[in-house]
Order: sequence, then C-alpha cells, then structure tokens
Amino acid sequence: MVTGHGNIKAYLYRFKITEAPNCPCGNDNQTAEHILLECTILKEDTERLLAAVAKADNWPINKEILIKNTTKHLQNSRNREIKSKKLNKI
Ligand SMILES: [Zn+2]
Repeated sequence: MVTGHGNIKAYLYRFKITEAPNCPCGNDNQTAEHILLECTILKEDTERLLAAVAKADNWPINKEILIKNTTKHLQNSRNREIKSKKLNKI
C-alpha cells in the first residue's frame, strides 16, 4: 500500500487484472493515496487511523502495528462494502 502496490484497483488495472481503476466511492482512480486520504467510503477508518497515529505516545509508530492496524481497517471496510453489495442485490 505504501509503495503504491497491493490489492488496489489502479495497480490491478495497470496489470489488466481488473477492468477499471475506479473506486466504489465514485472516484475514477483508486490509488493508495486515494484510499488512505480521500476515499469517502473509508472516511471513518481514515479518521480513526489518523487519530491513533496523532497520539503522542504512538509516534513514531511501530511499522508492524501500522501495517496491522491499516490492514484490519481495510479488511473491515472491504467486508462492509461486500455486505453492502449483497444487500443491494436483494
Ligand atoms: Zn474511494
């Protein structure tokens, strides 16, 4: 994610693994920067992550904790997105 690689649509689109680089929020290009800073779907998770990082006793944050927390937030968001899509199909 930090390097711009990973399971993000802009990256997957570049290697023709997905048909379009757009984000479910409507943004045309789902980049790592978009996911971490701009995505409206992930806004709550971004705010929680930034609040956790901003705590003085958490800085500089341990890289393993940052990766673990970010992965957990993204998995929770993805699970919510999947549940939302399933509800829309009903
Ligand atoms: Zn988005």
